[in-house]
Amino acid sequence: MFIAFEGGEGSGKTTQSRLLAIWLRDQGFDVVQTREPGSTKVGMRLRAILLDAVHQGLSARSEALLYAADRAEHVEKVIRPALHRGAMVVSDRYVDSSLAYQGAGRALDPEDVARVNDWATGGLVPDLTVLIDTPPSVGLTRLGGAADRIESEPLEFHERVRREFRALAAADAGRYLVVDGTLAQDEISRLIQDRVREVLPD
Ligand code: C5P
Ligand code: MG
Repeated sequence: MFIAFEGGEGSGKTTQSRLLAIWLRDQGFDVVQTREPGSTKVGMRLRAILLDAVHQGLSARSEALLYAADRAEHVEKVIRPALHRGAMVVSDRYVDSSLAYQGAGRALDPEDVARVNDWATGGLVPDLTVLIDTPPSVGLTRLGGAADRIESEPLEFHERVRREFRALAAADAGRYLVVDGTLAQDEISRLIQDRVREVLPD
């Protein structure tokens, strides 16, 4: 089973994916907790390029392709092997991040971004995507000033990203859980556990 976490900056994806992995392990599942970008050897180098403020002028297409390259490596080296041996995979970000950031954020044609990513992943789609929906003003404040290349984009950029995440969830509601990211941390994890319980194998 493959569960992806999505959401904007400071939405709590990292915390919640870690809590879910712990909860699943407590129930005896083999869990691979992973993230994008940067979960492979090459991916770590791509992450460094992508997030470094010195690359502020990186072209939108290059950015989209580098994220897709990171994801192709992630799927082939980490996610598919884990799924193949029957593990549960919990990923902090996946394809929706590219549709939201490079598609809506950078104003690339969403169909192009979708096609590139479908090719990069060999069409691998999560069984469940948890969208932690947080107003960018709240999420960016939580980061407390620490800003990488993308976090330092203007608020409108992050608003477009948020709208796209919500639109993706609305278009395929059965495969998404949308949680209000302004709720308390333990309340969010309870809502996630309730939903995951429904889709768990016996
Ligand atoms: O989730 P995390 O903050 O570690 O992600 C690293 C950075 O990469 C974030 O600033 C995020 O906005 C950015 N990102 C992106 N496009 C993606 C995935 C992540 O701009 N497809
Ligand atoms: Mg970040």
